[in-house]
Amino acid sequence: EKTRNIAVKSDRKGLEEASKRLKLETEDQTLVIPQLRKESRRQYLAKRKDDQLTLLEAAIADEEYLFGKEKLTESEQKRHDYNKKILELARQHDRVSEFANVQRYHIPSEEQTEEYKEVDEGEKVPNSEQRKWEEERLGSAMLRFGAKDAKQQNQSKEYDLIVDGIEIDFVKALTLAGDDDISQDDHDENRHMTEKDLKKLSIEETRRSLPVYPFKDDLIAAINDHQVLIIEGETGSGKTTQVPQYLIDAGYTKDGKKIGCTQPRRVAAMSVAARVAEEMNTKLGSLVGYSIRFEDCTSEKTILKYMTDGMLLREFLGEPDLASYSVIIIDEAHERTLHTDILFGLVKDIARFRPDLKLLISSATLDAEKFSDFFDGAPVFRIPGRRFPVDIYYTKAPEADYIDACVVTILQIHITQKLGDILVFLPGQEEIEQCQELLQERVRRLGTRVKELLIRPIYANLPTDMQAQVFEPTPPNARKVVIATNIAETSITIDNIIYVIDPGYCKQNSFNPRTGMESLVVVPISKASANQRAGRSGRIAPGKCFRLFTAWAFQNELEDSTVPEIQRVHLGNVVLMLKSLGINDIIHFDYLDPPSSEALIIALEQLYALGALNHLGELTRLGRRMAEFPLDPMMSRALLASEKYNCGEEMLTICSMLSVNSSVFYRPKDKAVFADTARKRFFMAGGDHLTLLNVYKQWMDSAYSKQWCMENFIQYRSMCRARDVRDQLEKLMERVEAEVKSCDNDNVAIRKAVTSGYFYHTAKLNKGGNYRTIKGNNTVLIHPNSTLFDEQAQCLLYHELVMTTKEYMRQVIEINPSWLLEVAPHYYKPKD
Ligand code: ADP
Ligand code: MG
Repeated sequence: EKTRNIAVKSDRKGLEEASKRLKLETEDQTLVIPQLRKESRRQYLAKRKDDQLTLLEAAIADEEYLFGKEKLTESEQKRHDYNKKILELARQHDRVSEFANVQRYHIPSEEQTEEYKEVDEGEKVPNSEQRKWEEERLGSAMLRFGAKDAKQQNQSKEYDLIVDGIEIDFVKALTLAGDDDISQDDHDENRHMTEKDLKKLSIEETRRSLPVYPFKDDLIAAINDHQVLIIEGETGSGKTTQVPQYLIDAGYTKDGKKIGCTQPRRVAAMSVAARVAEEMNTKLGSLVGYSIRFEDCTSEKTILKYMTDGMLLREFLGEPDLASYSVIIIDEAHERTLHTDILFGLVKDIARFRPDLKLLISSATLDAEKFSDFFDGAPVFRIPGRRFPVDIYYTKAPEADYIDACVVTILQIHITQKLGDILVFLPGQEEIEQCQELLQERVRRLGTRVKELLIRPIYANLPTDMQAQVFEPTPPNARKVVIATNIAETSITIDNIIYVIDPGYCKQNSFNPRTGMESLVVVPISKASANQRAGRSGRIAPGKCFRLFTAWAFQNELEDSTVPEIQRVHLGNVVLMLKSLGINDIIHFDYLDPPSSEALIIALEQLYALGALNHLGELTRLGRRMAEFPLDPMMSRALLASEKYNCGEEMLTICSMLSVNSSVFYRPKDKAVFADTARKRFFMAGGDHLTLLNVYKQWMDSAYSKQWCMENFIQYRSMCRARDVRDQLEKLMERVEAEVKSCDNDNVAIRKAVTSGYFYHTAKLNKGGNYRTIKGNNTVLIHPNSTLFDEQAQCLLYHELVMTTKEYMRQVIEINPSWLLEVAPHYYKPKD
């Protein structure tokens, strides 16, 4: 608006200056974006495209103004016509899209009902909506866009409270319908109940209030009648916590057999088990327990066992017919994790020769038909959902920095909207911590001017006691903000969420068979995911979901549904597992959706190169031993190579530390310099693996001291976890009869052992000073946190690739290329 005013008032010179400034600001922003952004290239480009449209509009408006004043040169005229044509096309495009007639306003404040009215009346006048839309669009074209937008003219006073004077414009696009049978009375009654009484409800009453409760008898009858049953119901209807208890009541555990329930995520398995133990009034680990990688919290008495899908897969190794189970529940089936997908094939197979085994496949959405088809037409039991309508808001312009945008939106909600908890979805721990820090700082600056805001993160690595905090009821007159990973999408249910903020990203493991590289990438979520997330806000009352992307992006950039993991990750682990279960023909295994044969062949090749399979594709003795470890085949190979290099003690430590790697060092923002200095003191020549070993050794010398960790900016909890993992791995080494010796820190021996497993993950320095992977020749960079960041080692081995703005190698060591021939002679050939 400012720019426009200048333009209108002043002469050409002023206009030039104004548009120069507009450009500069924009350029400035594009300069910043690549550092901040964490989205895929595709999304980034798409955003740029959107930005360019806005710029274009600005340019045309400028020129149109000039038209009346001066004659344009021929080239100026040409460009002007061209620009106009493009803009017209873009507008047409927008108009035909589903969201052409969206209503645009700020997040409507609960008190500011005026705005609602204005729009309502506007709708009665033909074309007024469209006109308003165009006006605003042109208006906003003259402004900066995104979170850093200038203040709106008619900003309410309250917005001044937001410290930096920034806010995000949201567009209300549509309302996800709730269930028809919820009348307005119901709303009020329910809302009333949730706010006042729900907290007081006893566990028993809560259980009775869940949607699944009225169907208890029907459900049990259906299970009695059918061996396989698909259960479908909205998140929070009680599938995970209630159904197993109904089965216990119905006598399914009477003959000494137990019920197993799989979860795709560790956190879910733990928190759900804890909740059910509480509901059943027993101690966690006795009647009800859980089992996750490196942690078994069950006992002889356990009759209900929650576990990760990966753990059930491991149980097949010891008990191929799952004889100790009477019921297996594959929960969260819609998540389609790699392990769940493999389980489908395995349980379908054993159900054939174990008619007494009941199989329940439970899923939150839509895929029920597909599951039913796979399980030979098994019946689907639908638990009618109870969902209130959810209003969906989009941003008007793409957000460059989604973490910042989250913080702004949280504060906007906190200041303008009535009480009710907020759920924010971020891709991972790092982003969550960043967001939490930013938010805390801003809230602190606001002081007592706003109501209390409780910030509760939840992600897989968070210690259990802190995870439990997200479920604690919010005290009166305060608001809770839960900042979560994908875990809160369907795996766990947090009550009382009214607002959802969704930046539209998640972290995904992604393997590219062509380059042979697997990396962790932040990617845009699917439409199905976005709708699931939105649905989290409408469980107990009508909700609002704020999407930090545009309606256009939703329509055009998001895939309909997420590609199942089996079709996008490295399959080495799973193939090794299947082989050790005696399934030799992995190409024709009964997959729900088969992986590409390319990916299967790559997995077979890798296992062959690692020595786990012989040239006939049969499991070797080494392969059998490797399969005992709940680790990636590369890591179990490296661990077992320690026998040859006499460095078992050291490799046990390194493998354990690598399993918690990203969270070993602690770096608080206000003490970053000290933390970095402290970290550097641990650096070891040779690389990060040795640095991690060094950290662990010193911690051991301090008698596993917490104090020592604090002084050295090391995360105590991560260290304790590493110690647990190490104990478990040590036991497994004993089980496979591997000798565990110490090489007394023989740097070369250790690195050779690591190389024996990770010879795939190597990169060489080229003449231009860049690293290229040896296989595939892809450009990769050393992660700035690495011990070797400042060095120019000729040949590197990396533990993993992480894709942020670039492809980074995280955890690297320097190796001698000649070792590659030594450890993997059939993979690397000597140069002739
Ligand atoms: P579903 O599996 O169908 O998504 P759940 O069985 O997980 O549903 O959850 C049902 C209800 O149980 C939730 O709405 C919530 O009230 C309660 N609940 C589940 N987990 C916990 C927990 N860890 N703490 C407190 N309440 C919980
Ligand atoms: Mg569930």
